[in-house]
Amino acid sequence: MDGCIFCKIVNKEIKSYIIYEDNVAMAFLDINPLTKGHLLIIPKKHYERLSQIPEEEMKEFSKSVLKILKLVEEKLTKDYNILVNNGKKAGQEIFHAHIHIIPRYGEEKLFNWTTHKLTEEEANEILRKFKS
Ligand code: AMP
Ligand code: ZN
Repeated sequence: MDGCIFCKIVNKEIKSYIIYEDNVAMAFLDINPLTKGHLLIIPKKHYERLSQIPEEEMKEFSKSVLKILKLVEEKLTKDYNILVNNGKKAGQEIFHAHIHIIPRYGEEKLFNWTTHKLTEEEANEILRKFKS
């Protein structure tokens, strides 16, 4: 898609550090890594969000994702976070679907999440939404 930075990476119009590429997917280093080896996996075809990838293409993309995960495990580490920022409020800044792979080495302090204990009321409210 015109103006999309990840499409430009797919088309080799801008520099990137590609670690894997096949017909449907590509994995390259994030230019602002959270940890050493932080990389992004993208479908080569432009979709804004992961959930917009058609089922058949998702099947092929998933195979590539699995290959890349195995590569990461073989070459870097078996410990990593998989993160998808799906939508603006979830922190998505580049609207070409992508999966972050964030290797973990033990010392880094990431994702300082604040949680609360799930209440019965809250759980039931969500369950009602899914059941309606
Ligand atoms: P997100 O917030 O999930 O949309 O993350 C987009 C990610 O893309 C960020 O972590 C950026 O550092 C990364 N990024 C942006 N431009 C490039 C680029 N040209 N090459 C590699 N990574 C990029
Ligand atoms: Zn794109």
